[in-house]
Amino acid sequence: MFNFYEDSTPLATTVSLSETGELIETAAPPPIPDLCHKCGRCCKSATTFHQHEKVTALAAEGDFEAQEFLRVFKPYPSIEAARAVVPEQVEQVLEVANRRDDMDAEKVTFYYCDHVTPEGLCGIYETRPRCCKDAPSHGWAAMPPGCGFDGWQFLDRERQKRMIRDLKSQAHILAAASLDGVTHPTRHDVSLEALEKSIDEKIKPWKRFGAEFW
Ligand code: SF4
Ligand code: SF4
Repeated sequence: MFNFYEDSTPLATTVSLSETGELIETAAPPPIPDLCHKCGRCCKSATTFHQHEKVTALAAEGDFEAQEFLRVFKPYPSIEAARAVVPEQVEQVLEVANRRDDMDAEKVTFYYCDHVTPEGLCGIYETRPRCCKDAPSHGWAAMPPGCGFDGWQFLDRERQKRMIRDLKSQAHILAAASLDGVTHPTRHDVSLEALEKSIDEKIKPWKRFGAEFW
């Protein structure tokens, strides 16, 4: 699990452009099938986008998600300690953190949960926090290599890429059909520039994954 406190909510939404130039957002994420094969590694290798101090500060300020996260997850004393338990996931997360200019790989904290059983099951299944219930929530969450959701995550990433491509091509079609080259073909109160800006704003969460080139 990865990026609990980055604003990843948009990544689980569907965005489309109506013929009249309105952006429609469907908040309900696509249903996630149960593909977990209970290896328990995600429960021993959680990380967050924010550094540990920030997560604890958020919890102290009353942030429910942060409190829920810290209710079950404890920080490993060091990256090396985490590496000894979940080496592949540590490498994967550090690789992601190294590529991003808004993260410091040396300051990533890895967490483990005491409630995972030796069989890889959740010992508090009925009362597990939402971050566990929702995982992996979208295709970009860095699950451990070989996770049962690998294939689903690949398809979800492709779904999101197609969605962004559709948005862009619809905007091109509207621009090509514009009678004056400045406004929407049928709604002269909607400028193409404003439309382009709102689409650009909407696809922001995907830019860190390369959306500008899709
Ligand atoms: S890493 Fe994937 S397969 Fe393993 S327990 Fe977590 S969700 Fe299930
Ligand atoms: S609460 Fe359950 S699902 Fe969540 S990390 Fe712990 S063992 Fe895993």
